[in-house]
Amino acid sequence: MNLESYVSGEWKAGSGEGEPLVNPVTGEELARASSDGLDLSAALEYSRRGSRNLQKLTYAERAGLLSAIAKVLEANRQEYFDISRRNQGATKADASFDVDGAIYTLKQYAKLGQSLTGRMLKDGETVPLSKTGVFGGQHYLKPLEGVAIFINAFNFPAWGLWEKAAPALLSGVAVFVKPATATAWLTQRMVKDVFNAGVLPEGALSILCGSPRDLLDHVREHDVVSITGSANTAVMIKSHPNVVARSVRVNVEADSLNSAILGPDSGPGTQPFELLLTEVVREMTLKAGQKCTAIRRILVPRPLLTSLADAITKKLGEVKVGSPEQDGVTCGPLVSKKQQQSALADIAKLKQEAQVVFGGSEDFRPLGVSDPSRAAFVQPTLLVCDSPRQATTVHEIEVFGPVATLMPYDTLNEAVELANRGRGSLVASIYSDDADFKQQVTLGIASSHGRIMVVDSSVGPQHTGHGNVMPSCLHGGPGRAGGGEELAGLRALHFYHRRFVVQGPPSLIDTLSSQAHDASSLTS
Ligand code: NAP
Repeated sequence: MNLESYVSGEWKAGSGEGEPLVNPVTGEELARASSDGLDLSAALEYSRRGSRNLQKLTYAERAGLLSAIAKVLEANRQEYFDISRRNQGATKADASFDVDGAIYTLKQYAKLGQSLTGRMLKDGETVPLSKTGVFGGQHYLKPLEGVAIFINAFNFPAWGLWEKAAPALLSGVAVFVKPATATAWLTQRMVKDVFNAGVLPEGALSILCGSPRDLLDHVREHDVVSITGSANTAVMIKSHPNVVARSVRVNVEADSLNSAILGPDSGPGTQPFELLLTEVVREMTLKAGQKCTAIRRILVPRPLLTSLADAITKKLGEVKVGSPEQDGVTCGPLVSKKQQQSALADIAKLKQEAQVVFGGSEDFRPLGVSDPSRAAFVQPTLLVCDSPRQATTVHEIEVFGPVATLMPYDTLNEAVELANRGRGSLVASIYSDDADFKQQVTLGIASSHGRIMVVDSSVGPQHTGHGNVMPSCLHGGPGRAGGGEELAGLRALHFYHRRFVVQGPPSLIDTLSSQAHDASSLTS
């Protein structure tokens, strides 16, 4: 099967052999994707027309489009689970995290968008600029006239598209997605289903399968680029000469060394200890640890190190790793041999500063796999780094797989220092019943984290999860995590609007304001 792209209003396969998409359990080739020969300049120009079509509608009407997309995806959910299993080795829970997460996010934005009126947003009150009130200033936010280009990572082919597309389409900006080639099949199928259902205006949604080639040479001033991927790719995109020359807005979601922090009050048998334990094992094994938000570093009071290491080790020992076709398997493979090799090489680097206390074997036998040499499994691996303040690689290398490192700390300030050594992360979670600890750690790490989840006995298991991204809350982190901001309810619409101020007579401002929705409600 050659994955066709949908560009310039046509489904077209690129020329040439293209890149293979494989089943990471069997090594079987499933499809190929090539973008060779496609005219990407014309493709983006066509998508810009899609924005004009979308902007003929109101926000509320576009919210209706999001509901319609969610319905299409729901109707084909089983098909998506099947593609996820074949192309990613995804268990049901893995596929649900991606596919159901996408549908949930679309529905949330559909709901939020229903209450928006008008065709642009009013930002704040009119500022008086004259003595008699005949001249004033009013800020507005207007939807962008360009196209939103999404360059996405392999690990969320469903959610990765729709969590970005929901605020973009609601804003009235057409979407042009370039999924990571290794898992592009699911994204492509979803786009095809939405296209076939005819729910979107012409040009509102396009997809490029295969290499991005010269795509960035053709972006324009009114376009935006949102990249999820490695820090290296993000740097290349941000510094692309055409992107720089045209001041194209770029949002980056990149690597992250997220931490989970246990309070000194919370020994074995306490709720925070048990909740952290469950969360660590879930984060290591769900999607085989291939989540940008997964826990990579576990900060533990030194006296609790051994008991926590023992408890995690025991739970990891009970995890069934293997083919998603096997009953009871909760940890599948990495997405490709390339990712497997990269994870194993990174584990070897961590071993220079940390000792493996569970897993780490390259010869382990995943369940239900006839030829492990063709498969892409990595055994769940727990390491301990005894002197994390002196260490460097454990704070720098994000092993994108089922791998985490335990690090003891001696004082609260050390815990804060270690969490901040990630140089900017998407998320950290704190588990403690000590009010002072919770508050001081939260404030100590706030500048270097986008999201901080705090769990105590009063919250119990009702928290939303360390790795779960809620559409109503911020996703993104400073520094190494890319400096991007996605979601956070209607705040996400800001990325797809341009602010301008009108300085003029109140009559004009009143007329313009009557066509605008008050943006102070965007914090809902
Ligand atoms: P990647 O190699 O950086 O690729 C990401 C995307 O960029 C892919 O679609 C890739 O296309 C494309 N790309 C590569 N080189 C490009 C270039 N020169 N110009 C334009 N596009 C280019 O990352 P990945 O291996 O897919 O994803 C894994 C990484 O993503 C991990 O490091 C993880 O930390 C990060 N991640 C972050 C988040 C987050 O929200 N912060 C979420 C998920 C993953 P091809 O596939 O065709 O090469």
